[in-house]
Amino acid sequence: MPKIVIALGGNALQSKDSASTAEAQLEVAKQTCERVAELSRGGYEMAIVHGNGPQVGRILLASETARDTVPPMPFDVCGAMSQGYIGYHLQQALRYSLASRGLNIPVVSLVTQMIVEKADPAFQNPTKPIGGFYTEAEAKELENTKGYAMKEDAGRGWRRVVASPLPRRIVEIDQVRQLWDSSIVITCGGGGIPVIENADGTLEGVAAVIDKDFAAELLAEQMDADILMILTEVEKAAIHWGKPNQESLDHMSLAQAAQYVEEGHFAPGSMLPKVQACMKFVRTNPHKRAIITSLDKAIEALRGETGTVISFA
Ligand code: ADP
Ligand code: MG
Repeated sequence: MPKIVIALGGNALQSKDSASTAEAQLEVAKQTCERVAELSRGGYEMAIVHGNGPQVGRILLASETARDTVPPMPFDVCGAMSQGYIGYHLQQALRYSLASRGLNIPVVSLVTQMIVEKADPAFQNPTKPIGGFYTEAEAKELENTKGYAMKEDAGRGWRRVVASPLPRRIVEIDQVRQLWDSSIVITCGGGGIPVIENADGTLEGVAAVIDKDFAAELLAEQMDADILMILTEVEKAAIHWGKPNQESLDHMSLAQAAQYVEEGHFAPGSMLPKVQACMKFVRTNPHKRAIITSLDKAIEALRGETGTVISFA
């Protein structure tokens, strides 16, 4: 059976008009898992990676808000917590969607650590805002007492910023491999919990945000998956995005993709990392395929009927 790594975007867990509650997330997860179960019925072996931006943000905010009552959780711990409850929702929903199709495939989520490099240039220039807003005085205090990097956020106040380093190695990759044959594994949630490896071999969580599309790519590469499928809000990536001459893309070769990236067609932080992840994946092996499409169109895209396919040539 073809192996596929699926990266689920923010809309797989939260819809634009639903509340940002755990209950609403479970409802959206149920719809998402109906789609994923259809893919499984289509004869694919799969692992699932999901985003966690809004969720980890809320966990951090709750923890910061309650700081006078309970000690705040470090950001890596917030990431682990988000993997836990998102994984739980997907596990529960997907188990049901599979069973209702007569598929009794175990679904298991794995708290996953991702090694990043201490020397990653991203650490020199943290850019990702996380958590709540502070006054300038509070920001200075946090800089001095906790060593946080704080930045003024577009006139709205001061916020903590963290780096977005590249994922280098999935600590639990052997366990993913063992589970793959028997189960659908939910892994590398939110890009994985960023950890650095000390000289003595110990791992240490760091406050950082890893791009989940890059993490999914690394997983797909390491699992020797046939397809990397990035599911997001749009059916296809486009050039001249948002302009009158916008043009949806059915297919990009590596060379075409590189040219479009160069020309700045894909927005940093949203479509650009997806295209870059797809490029990296197909570069590893000319027989591999990467697809960017929407959750709703995943099945059609695998049949080659829609989506943006990125391939070597
Ligand atoms: P996710 O949560 O799925 O990771 P993002 O919101 O980070 O998704 O990125 C997907 C979004 O990127 C699309 O919904 C679209 O609004 C935006 N986008 C930016 N540039 C492009 C482009 N060139 N083609 C298509 N979508 C684009
Ligand atoms: Mg999004």
